Formats: sequence, structure tokens, C-alpha cells
Amino acid sequence: MHFRIFGKLLADDGNFRRYRLIYGACFVVHAFYAILFGIVGVPELMVFNIFSTALYASGTLFVRNNKGTIVWMLLLNFEIMMHGIWCADLLGYQYQFSLYTLAVIPITYFITYLDPEFTHPITFSSVLAALNGLSVMMSLFGSAHRTPRYHDMLTEFSHIIAQVNMLMTVFLLISFSMLFTGKINGDLNKLREQNDALDYLANFDQLTGLRNRNHIRETFKEYIGKDEPYSVILGDIDDFKHVNDTYGHNAGDEVLKAVSAIIKSDVGEEGVVCRWGGEEILILVKGSTEKGLTVIGRILDDIRAAKVSSETVTICVTMTFGLCGYRDAENIEKLISLADKRLYIGKNSGKNRIIANG
Ligand code: GH3
Ligand code: MG
Ligand code: MG
Repeated sequence: MHFRIFGKLLADDGNFRRYRLIYGACFVVHAFYAILFGIVGVPELMVFNIFSTALYASGTLFVRNNKGTIVWMLLLNFEIMMHGIWCADLLGYQYQFSLYTLAVIPITYFITYLDPEFTHPITFSSVLAALNGLSVMMSLFGSAHRTPRYHDMLTEFSHIIAQVNMLMTVFLLISFSMLFTGKINGDLNKLREQNDALDYLANFDQLTGLRNRNHIRETFKEYIGKDEPYSVILGDIDDFKHVNDTYGHNAGDEVLKAVSAIIKSDVGEEGVVCRWGGEEILILVKGSTEKGLTVIGRILDDIRAAKVSSETVTICVTMTFGLCGYRDAENIEKLISLADKRLYIGKNSGKNRIIANG
């Protein structure tokens, strides 16, 4: 249950809940102090705390539509500063009311970072943080130089109040730090997921799931200069136009997907497969030319044997491949155009074959 509440507080649209949490906590604390100061006889602070409870009660109502939050953050900060200064002035610094003034600093950064109403959240929070720091210094300085009006109150009372204030501050700091880091963590995970999705869109072909041209160039870059042997193979489905014309474009797509899946599975970890364009597929196979020929031979046989079902028909296709070894040309562009030239030779000499010379 409490995890659900935490999740809602971290959600993008969770500002209203976050404000309610802050104002609700402030309301409780001030209501407690209004009663306490009434009982122990500090009327100034009792009245101040009654006003504060009214302020935070209305705060929980007014921030409902995420409007006017700048004003409410200012009110929150000034109320806490004024309360800290006045408590130090009337009771003495040792009651530690100034701790709240310090605790509100990270809370302000957190809230302004998440609320789109704040166009300059860091400037806004930093100015308030400086004022908060200054007000604490003023309280400290003031109470060191003059005797507070209620200095004759019991020492135990000041100790208990100081402990309550310390506990509340630690609680506030821990809970808001958890919220802040949880939110940043969630945002980072979301960004990573979006990045992965974008990465996939940029590097993979949507129809076949094969890599597209962008990625294979990167992969080639990895091999060039390393002097590790590899083969470059360009394959093209035979008479694919006829498949489209006879069975329709959707059936053609099914054939492309099936052929791509066969090639991908046959190449496996031994290389990289990429949709070069249309029904042309570029393959990089690691190792010697003989190894490349073996892998492509396997692919050729598997495609010949495959029967692609599309709606009511079963389609059989063949493929022609042009292959060259990494030393057959001096750069990748020339290797690809040599593989293309050999593919062309294969097409002209009857298709459904592998050409590794010429
Ligand atoms: P060849 O044996 O000489 O390669 O003949 P071909 O008919 O395969 O070659 P051609 O270049 O004349 O036609 C290729 C066809 O591939 C034309 C084009 O519409 C089709 N094609 C390209 N991309 C796709 C695709 O993503 N899906 C489908 N269904 N067809 C495609
Ligand atoms: Mg073709
Ligand atoms: Mg073609």
C-alpha cells in the first residue's frame, strides 16, 4: 500500500499530491505548536501558529489545479523563515526552530524542479535558499546578543521541543530525499527505455527486424584496420517483382520476412545481417572466404527448401549471392560494389547461385 502512495508521489502528474504532503505536514506541525504555545503561555507564537495552520489548510485546497504554486512556494518559505526568526527571538535559538528553515531548502529545489510553472527553478530555489540561510544566521546572531522574552521557561521544555524539531527535520529530509532520488531514478529509467527504442528505430529495419544500412557501416568500421578476415556478401531475392505481381505486396512482405529470418538464423553469431535496400541483403561473415562460402551455401539451401505461407498460397523463392573476401578490395565501399558486381554476374548466369569470382 505505502509503495503505491510512493509511486503516486513520484508520478509526473504527482505535483498536487506532493503539495498536499508538504502542506499537510506543515498543517499538523503548526496545529501542534498552536496548542502547545497556548498551553505554555506564549500568545504571540500561538496566534502565529493559528495563522500558519489556516495558511496551510487553504494551501492544500488552492494548489489543486497546479496553479499559483510560485506564490505558494514563496508563502511557504517566508512563513517558515518568519516562524524560525520569531521563535528564536522570543524563546531562544536552542529550541531549534530554524532547522525547518534549513529543511525547506532541498524541498524547494525538488518541487520547483518538478513543477512546469517554474521557468527558472534553480535561480528561484537558490535565491530562496540564500534568504533561508540568511534568516537562520540572523536568528543565531540575534539570540546570541540579547535575552529572549521567554528565557525563563523550563530547560527541559526547550530540550524536548528541540528534539521534536530535530526529529521532524530529519524525517522531512529523509522522505524528500527519497522522493527526489526515486523520481530522478524513474526519469532516468524512462529515458534509457526511450533511448533504446530510438536506437532500435535508428538501427533496425521495421519489416524484417534486420539491421539497416546505418548500423552495418558502424560494424564494418570496427573490422577495418584490425586485419581480422571477413567476407562481404550481397544477396538479392530472385524474381521478387514476380512474387509481388502474382501474390500481392503483402505476400511479398511475408517472403522478405521469412528469407530474412532464415539468413539471420543461419549467420547467427558468425556475422551481421543487414537489409541493404528493397529485397537486397548485405551480410558480413567473420572469418575466411571458405567460411563465408560455407555459411552462404547453407543459406542458399535453406531458402530453396523454404515454403512461405501467405493466406491461401505457399510461395517458394531462390536467392543469388555475390561474395568477396576482405582483401579483394581496399575499402568497404569497393568491397560492397565488388560483391554487387558478382551478384550481377550471378543474376545474368541463371540466378539461384553464389558467385565468388569475377
Ligand atoms: P531479379 O531476380 O533480377 O532480382 O528480379 P527482381 O524482380 O527481384 O528485381 P526487381 O528489381 O525488378 O524488383 C524488385 C522488387 O522488389 C520491386 C519492388 O517493388 C520489390 N520490393 C522492394 N522492397 C519491397 C518490400 O519491402 N516489400 C515488397 N513486398 N516488395 C518490395
Ligand atoms: Mg531481386
Ligand atoms: Mg533487387
